Amino acid sequence: MTLIHHKIAGKNVGGAGTSPVFNPATGEQSATVASGGKSEIDAAVAAATAAFPAWAATTPSRRARVMYEMRRLLIARADDIAKIISAEHGKVHADALGEVARGQEVVEFACGIPHLLKGSFSASVSTGMDSYDQRQPLGVVAGITPFNFPAMVPLWMMPMALACGNAFILKPSERDPSAANLLHDLWREAGLPEGVLNVVHGGKDAVDAILDHPHIAAVSFVGSTPIAEYVYSRGSAAGKRVQALGGAKNHLVVMPDADLDQAADALMGAGYGSAGERCMAVSVAVPVGEKTADALIARLKPRVQSLKIGPASDSSAEMGPLVTAAHRDKVASYIDAGAREGAELVVDGRGLKLQGYEKGFWLGGTLLDRVTSEMTVYREEIFGPVLSVVRAENYESAVNLIHSHPFANGTAIFTRDGDAARDFTDRIQVGMVGVNVPIPVPVGYHSFGGWKSSIFGSHGVYGPESVHFYTRLKTVTARWPTGLRSGAQFHFSEL
Ligand code: NAD
Repeated sequence: MTLIHHKIAGKNVGGAGTSPVFNPATGEQSATVASGGKSEIDAAVAAATAAFPAWAATTPSRRARVMYEMRRLLIARADDIAKIISAEHGKVHADALGEVARGQEVVEFACGIPHLLKGSFSASVSTGMDSYDQRQPLGVVAGITPFNFPAMVPLWMMPMALACGNAFILKPSERDPSAANLLHDLWREAGLPEGVLNVVHGGKDAVDAILDHPHIAAVSFVGSTPIAEYVYSRGSAAGKRVQALGGAKNHLVVMPDADLDQAADALMGAGYGSAGERCMAVSVAVPVGEKTADALIARLKPRVQSLKIGPASDSSAEMGPLVTAAHRDKVASYIDAGAREGAELVVDGRGLKLQGYEKGFWLGGTLLDRVTSEMTVYREEIFGPVLSVVRAENYESAVNLIHSHPFANGTAIFTRDGDAARDFTDRIQVGMVGVNVPIPVPVGYHSFGGWKSSIFGSHGVYGPESVHFYTRLKTVTARWPTGLRSGAQFHFSEL
């Protein structure tokens, strides 16, 4: 059985513990991954600490050259990366390629690091005195990432942390760890010096070792809300800068004037793409008015019933399996709860079997109508191919519904009414908002982040926010001898 190693100081490192990695389409174990803890994190921090000073002193232009080269390699190797993602995550090939492309966008933004790090300068803040600021790297920083984007989420963090001059330790998800190792090797090939990037695999032990390590200055986390909250409080208590992005329940409001075919297309892609295992998946459709709801359900039902589900090798597949058997069973138990609590099961995806892939972690697309805000399927994040329809009496009750949910990652409105759209974008208490756009993931030169229980910490990831997160501000006030002497002063003087 293949062992997926840690990557510490540029070397493959094994470990005492391991955990299994599965191919979700076949249900078979494909590898074991090393499971690190305190000693592996200590070794990675030692390597990163040794590499940091020279990397921090490398000019931003030279660091940018590594980014340009990484961009070239990501394009050249996109297909290989996508295959590795699909083999361990289960998502279809086109979707995996899309993930690599979104990660590449962040590398492209990081190519502009000399410009992004430019500080401001004020001449003559006093006689013969100038003031300027610099953004300096933090030191050794770490990233902890979820299973659902095994390449993109590490690429939300690595390019910006590295371009800002930090050394980086990645702790990827133990469920699909191989993409992280390939990215590590590509960074090395792009010219990143040994030890500047290290990958330590594992679960809670590795995470706790990161959170407690006195020489890790900052932690970026993306994953579920309970773990995000835990990482934020334990990391902050240890004096680290922490950004922790959590779970989601994203609503898409369909106004009576919306183009319903367009709205149905959007709900199919955003609800069932990647089997719903996306933090920006739309899991709740909110049609306004009974007529809109009936017309929407009539469009969605046949399409959910005929979703093409298959392995990544089937280029016609629209959706793959779920990541593990345990996750598939958990999602199926939400469908049980929905039916038990009174939702109308319009399409039931439970019990799906695929010929030739009988042991795979399959679940069909599921559509629940007449879901209410008290039901478990509405309150909790399901993270599977399950779309709930909550019928809203009017626009205001749709807005109130969204506001009453603790998650606030993304949301969207489908309408042709500019007034309604403007009111929605102004008032809605959610971090990322779409107007006739179902998955409003910001491009690489904006920043990504939800509100409320979808984030802990004050900075979003990538884009301009990440420059602030991965650097600290230093302000220099300098005077050169001018021949003037005013003697010692014991009070603030007027400028
Ligand atoms: P998860 O919270 O289970 O795992 C995330 C990371 O935390 C992994 O690296 C995992 O090894 C580690 N971890 C798991 N349990 C831990 C514990 N008890 N103590 C310490 N560390 C632990 O999340 P997941 O299932 O891998 O990913 C899906 C979740 O991530 C969903 O909730 C989804 O909404 C969220 N997500 C959020 C965003 C966002 O940007 N807000 C993006 C992608 C995914």
